[in-house]
Amino acid sequence: MSKIQNYVLGNWTSGAGEGVPLFDSVTGAIVGHASTQGLDFAEILHYGRTKGGEKLRKMTFQERGNMLKSLAMYLTKRKEQFYEISYRTGATRVDSWIDIEGGFGNLFANASLRKLFPNQSYHVEGDPIDLSRGGRFMAHHILVPKRGVAVHINAFNFPIWGMLEKCAVNWMAGMPAVVKPATSTSYLTEAVVREIIASNILPEGALQLICGSANTLIDTVESQDVVTFTGSASTGRMLKAHPRIISESVPFNMEADSLNASILGEDAVPGTPEFDLFISQARSEITVKCGQKCTAIRRMIVPENLMDEVQTALGKALDRVTIGDPRQKEVRMGALVSKDQVTEVKNRVSEIAKTAAVVYGDFDRLELIGADDKGAFISPMLLREDHPFKNTAVHETEAFGPVSTLMPYKTIDEAIELAQMGKGSLVSSIVTNSDDIAKEYVVNAASHHGRILVLNRENAKQSTGHGSPLPLLVHGGPGRAGGGEEMGGVRGIKHYMQRCAVQGSPTTLTEITGIYQPNSAYKEITQHPFQYHWEDIQPGMSLRTHNRTVTDTDIINFANITWDHFYAHTDITSLDGSIFKKRTAHGYFILAAAAGLFVYPNKGPVAANYGLEECRFLRPIYHNDTVYVRLTCKQKVDRDVASAEHPSGIVKWFVEVFDTTDELVAVATILTMVQKKQEVFVE
Ligand code: NDP
Repeated sequence: MSKIQNYVLGNWTSGAGEGVPLFDSVTGAIVGHASTQGLDFAEILHYGRTKGGEKLRKMTFQERGNMLKSLAMYLTKRKEQFYEISYRTGATRVDSWIDIEGGFGNLFANASLRKLFPNQSYHVEGDPIDLSRGGRFMAHHILVPKRGVAVHINAFNFPIWGMLEKCAVNWMAGMPAVVKPATSTSYLTEAVVREIIASNILPEGALQLICGSANTLIDTVESQDVVTFTGSASTGRMLKAHPRIISESVPFNMEADSLNASILGEDAVPGTPEFDLFISQARSEITVKCGQKCTAIRRMIVPENLMDEVQTALGKALDRVTIGDPRQKEVRMGALVSKDQVTEVKNRVSEIAKTAAVVYGDFDRLELIGADDKGAFISPMLLREDHPFKNTAVHETEAFGPVSTLMPYKTIDEAIELAQMGKGSLVSSIVTNSDDIAKEYVVNAASHHGRILVLNRENAKQSTGHGSPLPLLVHGGPGRAGGGEEMGGVRGIKHYMQRCAVQGSPTTLTEITGIYQPNSAYKEITQHPFQYHWEDIQPGMSLRTHNRTVTDTDIINFANITWDHFYAHTDITSLDGSIFKKRTAHGYFILAAAAGLFVYPNKGPVAANYGLEECRFLRPIYHNDTVYVRLTCKQKVDRDVASAEHPSGIVKWFVEVFDTTDELVAVATILTMVQKKQEVFVE
């Protein structure tokens, strides 16, 4: 019988002994055996930190992002083999799409985030902070990759997405990973890791895989490591309290049981699009992935007077759900992961049914298409708890299958209270066409939820749905949901980096951050800054221009050209009682005149004006005032667009306009596209 292998220390390795059998969820046949016997977890973690970590840390965000993009493209080309294997986990093609292409989509989305980071191995965060009156002492926050390894302990339900949503961010941050999928579906994770390793796109050591039991995996974690966990609350709490996690202060991100609630707005009565949306969303959340989704709707909170209508409509919708071998085209719901999970779900339903009524579904009567009872099949189940304030099992019991419970509310306050009785969830949704109801719910329920979807007729067609965590949105929830937070775009990447507040002089911090800091010493140059190519420009390079006196005629001409006849520029008889003392130059004229002072007219490496970021006019400029400009390179932002013809990068220039008493009268940051001597990025 075949062995599911581990990829550790640079080799594919079978654990010793026979290992534990992994079963096909549909046929009950053995898929293979998994064993971790003989693996040295301490050595594996050390290998990741050193071999993989050293290479990843040195790469820039742009290089890491392009690596993720190449990997996503490589895997997408080979996706069909994963769909084939995924059927064995009980998943339909639609279920597998979430796992497979949702996982690759995460790589793509994180790859794109490279554009939001500097082209270096560490990140500079937020604004500079002035710590002195004289401007000679300041601070800035930087984030550097942690020098450890990310250990991901994952659940059985998303063997691919579960790995990639976590690894995408740790790789972007510059950290290696050791992935330990749930043993039962690890054969699918193994198939993907085989392709990843074969691609040679990642540096060796960036990814190791452990398929099988790993009870001592976190015994040797260190303070620079990060551990993430997705699974049951009991295992999660046990691991979070591990002495090594506590003694080494290892960040532990947990995502566990979540009793997600969906609310039907009072306005969403039968006959409205929102009522139908609620029913179709509920059906798909109950049945997709056979209900084995951490974000599935477990509690449906419905206006008291609509309970019967919802129950009937949802029952009819569930009647249309065909169950069986997920390979069959007409099948809408496949199997649970294992027979053990069938028993587990039945037990949980019995718990809830102690007080709630089962109003749809029968565990003993199941019509299957193309399958028999050797598979882990189960009926969708709908329960109804009419006294949800008194009977709390429904707020405490997660039946991780196609199971959900209806419960009534009288007022929106009651609906909020019921949602909060889940003590913290990954996601909630409210289906309403009333923005007042939506606002009331969102503002009061947000404290208990990581994400809230407001669904209505306007967004229904494009909505990504209640159950879909998205790479750019945070995924995680307080309390029962584990208290963790994953993904969320740039936020997610920062979980794998150490933030450090760096204090020093502006000149030093310009060098460290790669951004010109106010009050830093200028780097005087021999040529005009616009004569330098991208590679030769450095933050701090500066030019002081000659002077220009702004005349009355300048102001009148500018007003006529632009048609901006605001009184301060055109009517000096109206200035009494205003903030202006004399005819005042237009702000945009100051900006344009500044460009006239600092622009180098001849053809050169500056290819184009790319835009303007920040601009402030600090005091009025009157006719006969004289100004000059300081043009200083603030920052270089590399662009990895493949343009062999015109390779260029963006240079941000800090423009300061002074009067002849050296008082600052206007500031702006302008962007130019500057040619490179050579193409730096290779796609
Ligand atoms: P578990 O908590 O049993 O397992 C989750 C992961 O932890 C698996 O990879 C498991 O490995 C690993 N693990 C277990 N014990 C240890 C240990 N001592 N040291 C290191 N790793 C360990 O959850 P399951 O995946 O079996 O799911 C069980 C239940 O959890 C479900 O029925 C459901 O109720 C809930 N669940 C909730 C989710 C959510 O996000 N809301 C997601 C998935 C599950 P191994 O497989 O080898 O035991």
